[in-house]
This record gives sequence, C-alpha cells and structure tokens, in this order.
Amino acid sequence: MKLIADLHTHTVACGHGFSTVQENVFAAQKAGLSVLGITEHGPSIPGGPHHYLMGAMLQIPPSVGNLRILRGAELNIINTSGELDLDRDRMSRLDIVLAAIHPGTPYDGKSQEEHTRALCAAMENPYLDILAHPDNPGYALDYKKIVRKAMAEGVLLEVNNNSMNPTHPGRKNGLANCQEFLTIGKKEGLRVTVGSDAHISFSVGKMEKAIKLLEEIGYPEELILNCSREGIEDFLEERQKRIQKKLKTEPFWN
Ligand SMILES: [Zn+2]
Ligand SMILES: [Zn+2]
Repeated sequence: MKLIADLHTHTVACGHGFSTVQENVFAAQKAGLSVLGITEHGPSIPGGPHHYLMGAMLQIPPSVGNLRILRGAELNIINTSGELDLDRDRMSRLDIVLAAIHPGTPYDGKSQEEHTRALCAAMENPYLDILAHPDNPGYALDYKKIVRKAMAEGVLLEVNNNSMNPTHPGRKNGLANCQEFLTIGKKEGLRVTVGSDAHISFSVGKMEKAIKLLEEIGYPEELILNCSREGIEDFLEERQKRIQKKLKTEPFWN
C-alpha cells in the first residue's frame, strides 16, 4: 500500500514541536508525498498556541511545487458536550479540522460512556473532518457507536502511526484499539485517514506501522483517504457541501 498524504503533522508553532513549516515541507517532498496536512494543536493544550495562530494558518501557502498543503488544526474536545477549543469563524478558515481529547486540557469526562458521548457530540460540528487517535487507551470508547456516528456525520477516523510506537508515553494499548475500530469499520464501510502525528520533520511521512496494520486487516484502499490525491481533492469538495448542509440544518442555538 502506498500512501501519498500525511494528514497529521505539527511544527514548532504548536508549542511542543521541533521543526518549522519549511522543514516539514522539505521532508514531505523528500518522502515523495503529494499532500501534507499541517495540523497545529488547539489553544487549550498545555503550552499550546494562542488562537490567533489558527487565524494566521492561511499565511502558509496552499502548495509548494507539486505538494498540496492543508492548513489545519488538531483541536481539543474540551467537555462531554463535545465543544472544541476554537471559535467557528477561525474554524471556518481552515482547510481541514482534526479533533481529539488530550490530557492536560479542561476535558473532565471520566467514563467510557462520557468519552463516547463527547466524541459523538463533537462529530456534529459542521467543520470537524477527522477524529485524531481515537485509539487513545486513556479515553476508552464504544467503537460501534463511534463508527456509526462517524459514518452518519461524514467524519473519518484516524489511524495514528504514533499511537503504535511502543515508546509513546500515553498510548500503550493503541494497536489493539486500532485493530478493534478498524475491524468494525471494515465491516461497516467506514472511511479512515492515516497520520504520522509528526512533531519533528524526521517523522513526516513515517506511517509504516499504520500501513502494516491496514494491510493485515485487509482494509479496502478506497476507504483510505490517503491513497490518492484525487480522492483528497474530492473529499475537500465534499466537505464544503457537508459544512453548508450542516449549517443549514443545525439547531439555531448552536
Ligand atoms: Zn493529539
Ligand atoms: Zn497531533
């Protein structure tokens, strides 16, 4: 399986990354990628960026040579109502929006039921595209509910290469959890993405562990967003329609 996109990377701007946009771009080009997602952490992560950074993301060019750059964010789900830590106006200016629960943020859910409720509610946000590292063992989930909600809302689940790294401090059971949601997802026809979650340019495009798992499970390539540039361009068009549709139908108090 060849992936042409890494849809989850960070730079020094996120507060705990080590490389610049330029270094990540060079690394992506060297790795032969066609699309690179620069998805900085939302403001409520410890040591994270001010929300002004999200407004400035469009200063990054949409392409460098043949490399398409998606200017995005990995926002924090900050409560069990699924609220994200960025205002709608700034969210609307991003090319792609990931979200996850992270330790050290105001999120205070305690149980599997609460984490599942938080993620399901977050997926109703018109701008949310991808649930990042839903394998995180610190926040157990009911994967059947998560997969069905994701499919209903047009949200993708991420296979996070970093989660399968045995040296990752917080995701000891990441592999088993990925296996679980991918097994359900394959049966249901869930679309997924892959991300390196690189916090340094040397890791950009490094998605071997995720690829190995997807191959072992026999996950259909047509359900993996990173497999073709055309598929990603189609998804970006589709997301505009999804956003417009959800904005029209969501309750007026949102
Ligand atoms: Zn994360
Ligand atoms: Zn990340």
